[in-house]
Amino acid sequence: MKMKEAITQRLALRANSAEAGPKVKVSELIKRARGFSKPFRVTDGARFRLKDVDPGETLSVSSEDKPRAKEALALGVEVLAELQDMLYAQDSWAVLLIFQAMDAAGKDGAIKHVMSGVNPQGCQVYSFKAPTSEDLDHDYLWRCLKCLPERGRIGIFNRSYYEETLVVRVHREYLEKQKLPPELVTKSIWKERYQDIRDVERYLTRNGIAICKFFLHVSKKEQKRRFLERLENPEKYWKYSANDAKEREFWNDYMEAYEDMIRHTATPAAPWYVVPADNKWFTRVVVAAAVIETLADLDLHYPTVDKQKRRELAAARRALSASK
Ligand code: ATP
Ligand code: MG
Repeated sequence: MKMKEAITQRLALRANSAEAGPKVKVSELIKRARGFSKPFRVTDGARFRLKDVDPGETLSVSSEDKPRAKEALALGVEVLAELQDMLYAQDSWAVLLIFQAMDAAGKDGAIKHVMSGVNPQGCQVYSFKAPTSEDLDHDYLWRCLKCLPERGRIGIFNRSYYEETLVVRVHREYLEKQKLPPELVTKSIWKERYQDIRDVERYLTRNGIAICKFFLHVSKKEQKRRFLERLENPEKYWKYSANDAKEREFWNDYMEAYEDMIRHTATPAAPWYVVPADNKWFTRVVVAAAVIETLADLDLHYPTVDKQKRRELAAARRALSASK
């Protein structure tokens, strides 16, 4: 069965037909998803400029349309769940979603909402924080490559090896802790890292791991607002870390590092989505849309069975029906 028919059928089965309303057309949903994700997809880094993306962008969906956007998100999550089911059954492709952002840009929330409908067995999330001494005893990709998704699974990296061109670039002292042979640390080190990452990602995509990378682009002003909210709301105290505020002093250095990173590592096979992140509801719609787009571009289908197997299944059905 083709991907679109399979999803339509399953969506129809899932919905309580009395309440389902007009029949959802999956091709239409996928088209709509692309409308939200494409404007933010970067496949050719050379032409990318961070200043061209407004963190407050909502593609003329006004805040009054928020309920409709939420509805679209809920439908998107359903489509995603079905696509993931097929990915899992086919057991051939894997999908790697990489999330990068400044603090309080909404990585955790986006991951939580967008993946809320997927089967936990088909999904793996890893967070990469400051490296341990064991991590530092290895090459910088080591800790991430150990966590790549298995076939049929969606793997999520909450931060990733890209930190090696971000925080490590902004704070050179981290590079010194990496115990690299000094003659290898030259001024080309960042260019070399971009090249290594591009090569590794090409290798992965050639092995059936589709890669989709997100930079949640929040403005400095909105970050301040969210930090203040964390400081004023007891339920959010736990989210605040003094170090987060300190990193704001390096805002421009981070923005330069993000722009350079995207310019050098956005490729057709492993695109970056630079997602406006000043409005959480919009961020989530775009992220869901991009994941749908990534999955829809794979040739997903449920495994087919040959004639012999169908005969066996029919015999099993007869035997089971006849049994007590
Ligand atoms: P949250 O703050 O929402 O819990 P987080 O992803 O910011 O999530 P933190 O506990 O703040 O989690 O830890 C992440 C920190 O680790 C970030 O400041 C990040 O820059 C840092 N980090 C990640 N990778 C590296 C690395 N390779 N070298 C040095 N620091 C790193
Ligand atoms: Mg943090």
